[in-house]
Amino acid sequence: MAKRDYYEVLGVSKNAAEQEIKQAYRKLALKYHPDRNKGDKGAEEKFKEATEAYEILRDPKKRAAYDKFGHEGVSGFEGFGRGAYSDFSDIFGDFDFADIFEGFFGSAFSGRTRTKRARRGSDIQYDLSIDLEEAASGKEVQIKVPRNEMCETCNGTGSKAGTKPAVCPVCSGTGQIRQTQGFFSITQTCYKCKGEGKIISSPCASCQGTGLRLHKRTITVKIPAGVESGSRLKITGEGEQGPNGGSRGDLYVAIHVKKHSVFERHGNDIISIIDVSFPMVCLGGEIEVPTISGGVAKMKIPPGSENGQVFRLKGNGIPYLGSYGKGDQLVKINIRVPRKLTPRQKELLKEFSTLDGEEVGSGGKEFY
Ligand SMILES: [Zn+2]
Ligand SMILES: [Zn+2]
Repeated sequence: MAKRDYYEVLGVSKNAAEQEIKQAYRKLALKYHPDRNKGDKGAEEKFKEATEAYEILRDPKKRAAYDKFGHEGVSGFEGFGRGAYSDFSDIFGDFDFADIFEGFFGSAFSGRTRTKRARRGSDIQYDLSIDLEEAASGKEVQIKVPRNEMCETCNGTGSKAGTKPAVCPVCSGTGQIRQTQGFFSITQTCYKCKGEGKIISSPCASCQGTGLRLHKRTITVKIPAGVESGSRLKITGEGEQGPNGGSRGDLYVAIHVKKHSVFERHGNDIISIIDVSFPMVCLGGEIEVPTISGGVAKMKIPPGSENGQVFRLKGNGIPYLGSYGKGDQLVKINIRVPRKLTPRQKELLKEFSTLDGEEVGSGGKEFY
């Protein structure tokens, strides 16, 4: 593909002033920047093309060579310009482009934004184990969360009382260091002050100059009824304190529901197994079943029920989170075989079998 004329690329005339070229490029760079056109190859090509054109036309020597000899005259310079141009500060001035450019040019621009901006604190995750009953009913619990808070001694400044931070001698307070190599310059976050622009000369003894102190803070967490194991509750603004008076991060409480010895959760239903006597399944009757809410429910056993049969107790399950109603309790019956019988009970069972035409009781000694 033949290279397009650089003036044509920028949409300016051959005798355009430096300022006009700059403005034309600024417009194109904003429009076609890869971070604004994610995955758009066409836009990326246009961005590179415009950057290359600008690299040549902004420099009077290169521009003259290009005017005289065309692309041949500057072939040693191009290529370099394709996407590698990193000093945008002279084009965009004070325009805060850091957020758009950060991903593309790495840390070159991050220094500028961090210099004066207070940063938001980190999020904290806290793991909380609860019982199935608590998940079913919901609960308010108090947890102790270790987190960074503003140092009270220095009010978060990090400096000893009566002292002030000094201007960073390396970057003169800008938080950035600019390095120039040929006509290519890179702006980096200052290594000395980490982009803060200031150096704490006499650090506060309580926080060693960080402005933060670790505290164990008691926080009340409302566990909603119906919460599932593995879910995270977000408590806004209860995370770490941000440096330089930045806002707090968030606290995430990860819920782990312990295994229960009697009840098992399936969605919003509760499954339990209950022992039922042999006469009960033969003749039917009513039994009491423990429920997840801590009470008991009466359940009818119809005559002739079988081992493993499942009965449903409507609305005795887990509440639907953030909604009305509850799941059910599914009760599976397990016929209990009596192991210790009185002579009278044995007599009655033998009689029962004889009526059924069966002879029992010759199976040898009981071994339990
Ligand atoms: Zn510095
Ligand atoms: Zn302090």
